[in-house]
Amino acid sequence: MSDTAAGPIESRSTITCPECGHREAETMPTDACQFYYDCKGCGAVLRPRPGDCCVYCSYGTAPCPPVQAAGRGAADGCCG
Ligand SMILES: [Zn+2]
Repeated sequence: MSDTAAGPIESRSTITCPECGHREAETMPTDACQFYYDCKGCGAVLRPRPGDCCVYCSYGTAPCPPVQAAGRGAADGCCG
């Protein structure tokens, strides 16, 4: 039995900084997206890549909860 569409929502995501490679585990808000993220390694301000709705979708090990709920690739399901 596989349930790829209705799996549990992962609220933890580890962000990898594209500038310095620093990794930091963060807890994602379930009702909002995080557009900016300050790297704790180098201080760079990360922003989502084009087509992504938040920094977790771009740099995290798990996409943000709204996107997880809508399915990966359905970026429109997040943040309007
Ligand atoms: Zn960094």
